[in-house]
Amino acid sequence: MVSEMTTWVCEQPGSLIKKSSPIPQPAAGQALIRLRALGICGTDVHAFRGNQPMFDYPKIMGHEICGEVVKAADDVEHLPIGQAVIVIPYKHCGECYACQRGRITCCTKLSVMGVHYHGAMQEYVAVDAKQLLAVDDIDVRDAALIEPYAIGAHALARSGAKQGDTLLVVGAGAIGLGVADIASALGINIILAEVNEGRLSEACGRFGYLHALNPLAVDYAGRLKAITEGHGPGFIIDATGNAASMNSQVEHLAASGTIVFVGLHKGEISFNDLAFHKRETTMLASRAADIQDFEQVIALMATKRIHPELLRDNIFPFNELSQSAFSDMTQPKNIKTVIEFDNTGDVDRPE
Ligand SMILES: [Zn+2]
Ligand SMILES: [Zn+2]
Repeated sequence: MVSEMTTWVCEQPGSLIKKSSPIPQPAAGQALIRLRALGICGTDVHAFRGNQPMFDYPKIMGHEICGEVVKAADDVEHLPIGQAVIVIPYKHCGECYACQRGRITCCTKLSVMGVHYHGAMQEYVAVDAKQLLAVDDIDVRDAALIEPYAIGAHALARSGAKQGDTLLVVGAGAIGLGVADIASALGINIILAEVNEGRLSEACGRFGYLHALNPLAVDYAGRLKAITEGHGPGFIIDATGNAASMNSQVEHLAASGTIVFVGLHKGEISFNDLAFHKRETTMLASRAADIQDFEQVIALMATKRIHPELLRDNIFPFNELSQSAFSDMTQPKNIKTVIEFDNTGDVDRPE
């Protein structure tokens, strides 16, 4: 019987310290999860580098979580021991204006695991059962990508794009590629745009997109029009967080079209009002994901209609983690790093 576990704590910007800490006990309404796989996200990278304004130190990072239930409080009956689960890493207040209208993703008190409270860069974590979703028939390393895919699913739902529509996805990082992967599965025509040629050709090699364009190419606007019968894409999802990119999207949009910003830029954005007005543009932001988004992604993943295995291009063993290894992971050479926990041999069942 084990009682201690390894925890990695981000003590201050640039520092990740290994600690031994007691395995938590599930409180009422909670289950204890043994980690199986943990995705590393831009949020973690920003926190590690000191560029995440909502993050205070010391804090345990990590919110893209797949694990298995090893213990549950007496009042948690629906999650059997051994059940594979993922975590919905957001807590909403249920009382604010947005929550009362069912828009929990923009709760004014939204609290994110691994940002506002401790995350899961550790061997075990106790989580409220209502934040857990069972996953079956999904590789644990893929299941760690359900959260970033759900972010994309939320942006896509916000856009209202449907089967047969044409969607321009700008930015071929993990979120943009997740949006494109889900949209393709739903029969939406994808145009992928990315300024990094290497990343663009890598993404096309993996996912096989027919229409892939570099927004910095001189004939970009003309080519976008040429492949959309002259009217431009009816839907644009910008996953760059880059102000110049976000500012330019309205110029490319079809009249009556919709733009969703899922990438976040921390400063101001500005665009031409004539371009915005004459199209009767719908412009939306997308933040976090709600339970329907998670359930949609789980269903698509379990039926292999989306391709998380093509996104995760760096699998790293938790036992070999170190500050320098994590620092190396934060370089943008990989699309998605997943930390895999040792799951060979018997599970250590905590007392
Ligand atoms: Zn994330
Ligand atoms: Zn709220």
